Amino acid sequence: MPDTQRPASARQRALRKLGLERPIDLALHLPLRYEDETRLLSLAEAARCVSDEPVQFEATVTHQEVALRGKRQLLVTVQDGDVQCLLRFFNFYPSQRKQMAVGERLRVRGPLRGGFGGLHMMHPVVRAAGGPLADALTPVYPTTAGLSQPVLRKAVQAGLQEADLRETIPQELLAGAGAWHHWSLKQALVFLHHPAPDVSLAELEDHTHPAWQRLKAEELLALQLSQAQVRQQRQQLRGPALMAGAGDLPDQLLAALPFRLTAAQRRVSEEIAADLAGPLPMRRLLQGDVGSGKTVVAALAACRALAAGWQCVLMAPTEILARQHFERLAEWLTPLLAPLGKQVAWLAGQQKKSARKQMLQAIADGSAALVIGTHAVIQDEVRFDRLGLAVIDEQHRFGVGQRLRLRQMQDDGTQPHLLMMSATPIPRTLAMSYYADLDVSTIDELPPGRWPVTTRLVSGRRRAEVVERLRRWLATGAQAYWVCPLIEESEALDLRHATQAHEELVAALPGLRVGLLHARLPADEKKAVMAGFVAGDVALLVSTTVIEVGVDVPGASLMVIEHAERFGLSQLHQLRGRVGRGAAASICVLLYGAPDGGRLSDTARQRLKAMVETADGFEIARRDLAIRGPGEFMGARQSGTPLLRFADLAEDEALLAWAREAAPVMLARHPGQAARHVARWLGTRMEYLKA
Ligand code: ADP
Ligand code: MG
Repeated sequence: MPDTQRPASARQRALRKLGLERPIDLALHLPLRYEDETRLLSLAEAARCVSDEPVQFEATVTHQEVALRGKRQLLVTVQDGDVQCLLRFFNFYPSQRKQMAVGERLRVRGPLRGGFGGLHMMHPVVRAAGGPLADALTPVYPTTAGLSQPVLRKAVQAGLQEADLRETIPQELLAGAGAWHHWSLKQALVFLHHPAPDVSLAELEDHTHPAWQRLKAEELLALQLSQAQVRQQRQQLRGPALMAGAGDLPDQLLAALPFRLTAAQRRVSEEIAADLAGPLPMRRLLQGDVGSGKTVVAALAACRALAAGWQCVLMAPTEILARQHFERLAEWLTPLLAPLGKQVAWLAGQQKKSARKQMLQAIADGSAALVIGTHAVIQDEVRFDRLGLAVIDEQHRFGVGQRLRLRQMQDDGTQPHLLMMSATPIPRTLAMSYYADLDVSTIDELPPGRWPVTTRLVSGRRRAEVVERLRRWLATGAQAYWVCPLIEESEALDLRHATQAHEELVAALPGLRVGLLHARLPADEKKAVMAGFVAGDVALLVSTTVIEVGVDVPGASLMVIEHAERFGLSQLHQLRGRVGRGAAASICVLLYGAPDGGRLSDTARQRLKAMVETADGFEIARRDLAIRGPGEFMGARQSGTPLLRFADLAEDEALLAWAREAAPVMLARHPGQAARHVARWLGTRMEYLKA
């Protein structure tokens, strides 16, 4: 049987789980930390460093017994000089009893504990005394169940020998870089897997050692190169040519709007129009705080595509949001499209078969000029006649695969223009590293007549007072949201909480209509509740976070968020953005803590403080990054494995700057080496960088 067809061994499966398939992957699997087995202490010396750090000493067994103190255990007393230590094992083999027979001299290694019962160790590593000492620090690797350190060490060692570690970075790019440029890749790797015992463990562990710096520089360079490649590949593509000035649909839309665009909306619309008229497929991110008016900018872009005879699709992350876009855009555009024999189509998961079939047909024959929906719009059976523009709202809520799919909707290999929208701005260093192929437009101004939202922190113990104020507020004819937390572990609990809050509020607010909205509700009920709220019939909307993104009801001017401490910062900001959209001054009440008053964690306190102190989405994003660290942002890319393993964008700005300068030069002068470098570092993860 050929090797490839043999079932993978447990070891191979465990290695694959860690992403360790090629020799180079193993060579690049770097230690988490190191253990020092190069030194031997006397037990008396070791007794002075009782801590979590393992120590190593040699001693002679003076006593052994198997005891039954609750659990069967092997107790071995060893002595070195006049100091004794008790070794305790809960799981042991008969062979171990023999190995540690009275009179044997042992080399023992592990963290040493002191205390009332004297010196002791749990499950130390034990071998016969007298063997040679390690001449380098012993690496401890990140691992997974079923893969022991010794096995992994061996695999890494083999990888290190087999991998092709020839230099890919040309000398001309290294000259002048930091101290790390004296290290070759191979030297750095050999060193990091087996550092000399006299090296500073601190430098190794905080990754400031030049060998580490070298690896981080390599990794950042790979990322920059891959982004530059993506950019180059795009230069080769043809986008749908949407000639500027084709048709007056955009002007008709502007004339039909009940408001005038802000200066910022006009500016970003022009940036988008220029892209659409150009020869390349657009890749543009439109960022703007909640309520800044991104939807109308997308509608204008759609008009340009439609006017030039192309189709347009708008995808939103939730059915409620997609529905709202559909209703608003259909209201604006149907009167303009109907005379042309075109329509706005709706596509969602929960839809009647016949309606769906009809929509699919209209999309395929092109009469559905604008298609709006959830991720239902990227299902296989959806076939566009001529897709010219794809808009993704709240783009960070979609996975990489979904975004890629949207770009590949056209069977003939042409790529539509792509407009991504988000209220969560991407931090600058991330934009430079991961989204180098994206152009960014920013709406930095809110429409006029918006009132800042006043945010109040109120202890959950005062919930009853808040309900009373809510009653008075609603009595004036205003509307409000009551948001219940998402309980991560259990959707059922989440639901029960919302249902219970709804019942309580119905009882507390006689004579008022109180609606309930949550993810499990059937689509038509959701639709009915939302419609009632939009129309103003429903005074209070009790909901889980399904309203988080995009929902727009200007009459709602009060929001109460229960257990606000359980929400993420950007989530709170998004939620708060639902109020302050009409003419009235708005209030957001953040109820925190249990009614019996539990303590808040530090990060929860920081999040709530940020909410009270600022309403600026960019400032919120900055604080969010500071509280959570950049790793979390990458989580949002949902690519499974993190793309940067060694470098840290927040800490390694100097290396990032070097990589940004080096990448274009390397690509232009040494394209072969650049390709090898990217393949070595990113392997199969390349595709993800394009999304
Ligand atoms: P977001 O950027 O959060 O998606 P929306 O597009 O939902 O914001 O817009 C929020 C609200 O502001 C909507 O009711 C929209 O009709 C309104 N709006 C958008 N642009 C303007 C403007 N220039 N003047 C007044 N109202 C506007
Ligand atoms: Mg929006």
